[in-house]
Amino acid sequence: MSDFDIASYVSRIEANRSVKDALMQSLKTRRPPYRISVTDLLNLKQAYFRRKYPEIAPPLEKQQLMWAGTGFHKTFGSAVSSEEYLEQFVEAEGIVGKIDIYEKIPVEVKTTSTPIDTKDLLKYRPTYIEQLGMYCAMVNAHEGEIIIYHRPAEESPSTPPLVVYHVTFPNLEAIREEMRRRRDLLVQALIANDPSNLPVCPWFNRQCDYSQVCDCATTPMPASYKIAELAGEIYVDSTTCEQLLSKMAGAQSSQLFGINDIVFPRKAYFERLKLSEGVREEKEEYLRSMDELGFLDALRDSLRYGAPGEAQRIPVKHAPLADLVQIWQKLPTILRGPKFSSLVERERLPRMFPHYFLRLGFDCALTEHTKGRLLLYYVKVPKEDAKLMVYDVNFRNLNTIKAEALRRLELLEKATSPLQLPKCPSWMCPYCDYRLECGEA
Ligand code: SF4
Ligand code: SF4
Repeated sequence: MSDFDIASYVSRIEANRSVKDALMQSLKTRRPPYRISVTDLLNLKQAYFRRKYPEIAPPLEKQQLMWAGTGFHKTFGSAVSSEEYLEQFVEAEGIVGKIDIYEKIPVEVKTTSTPIDTKDLLKYRPTYIEQLGMYCAMVNAHEGEIIIYHRPAEESPSTPPLVVYHVTFPNLEAIREEMRRRRDLLVQALIANDPSNLPVCPWFNRQCDYSQVCDCATTPMPASYKIAELAGEIYVDSTTCEQLLSKMAGAQSSQLFGINDIVFPRKAYFERLKLSEGVREEKEEYLRSMDELGFLDALRDSLRYGAPGEAQRIPVKHAPLADLVQIWQKLPTILRGPKFSSLVERERLPRMFPHYFLRLGFDCALTEHTKGRLLLYYVKVPKEDAKLMVYDVNFRNLNTIKAEALRRLELLEKATSPLQLPKCPSWMCPYCDYRLECGEA
């Protein structure tokens, strides 16, 4: 199998400092939305202080933790549903919200590391029910679901990774009334510069960025769970849970290939084989890796939903290849999170990370761009400002790169043995489950 050396097609790599600085800045100062949101109505005091003290932004490390869950939501959503149902924006009564998955009924996805007593969600997680209740009221649905992913914890290894709750809301108008009441309370407090009428947040007493400025110790209005109390029936829905787990197992076994499949065709071959054999143990592992994507996901968000006109995703179709190429500031852009604890010098990048360059090269060739952008976020580099690097990469001979992409696609389609496919980078083999079958052990 002749090796395609992507490094010889890279004509120039430039570190782009100004883009890096702008990106870091926008990450550090992500502002809450201007309009009132469902999450504001869950924590009125915090919503007030967030607007009054925008300079008190949580440190990057803390945001990283907060985003861990977000990463899970999106990846999980894509595995069990499809793009048109994910992250649906809704607006009603001057309040905005984003429903994780909304096909027939609203579905909220939550992650937690503390096992919850499955019998009493109302007692242990009233805010989950409040949030779902508000979404249901906004879209006029009398029922919704809460999916909880338990991060694996040593002290409770037997906790099921996924629990689904079905919740009904018989009185949507009463929920809407309470939403209006909370909205008006917040608006009045903002106008009057006086938060004393706002109830304390549910996580009162825990570490909060606004505790220095908050008046909760002197004017404590108790937290209320009026919306959660309006819930009707709450039950654990194990049928849906099973269906979700099976969907996840089948999520990657569609007939179409993605661009990454032609970057690692051999691995793609094995993965398909394995999935079609119905191997299920990987599901938990899969859930876990989704959870870890959080921080990179926040960065990816900046690329995907940047300033208007800045970000777009271009569909690429070459049967049987169907994928989307991320364009950011007019350039195909990929973001990766190498686990190295120090930065790799620019000249060594294509040899060290040939798969990143293959992917970017394929993205560029398939969309006819000679230049692409590689963002590296070194998760393990301790210094905050050194973690992110932005490189502008120029490719030569786009046609040859495109021909290689199509050749791999054809090979992948026709292969009857993995040995007919190009190898993955050799550092991957020692960690790979297929090394025995692949002859790399
Ligand atoms: S200090 Fe407590 S009540 Fe005040 S904003 Fe923070 S969590 Fe809410
Ligand atoms: S053993 Fe190596 S070449 Fe084979 S599939 Fe795994 S990573 Fe790829």
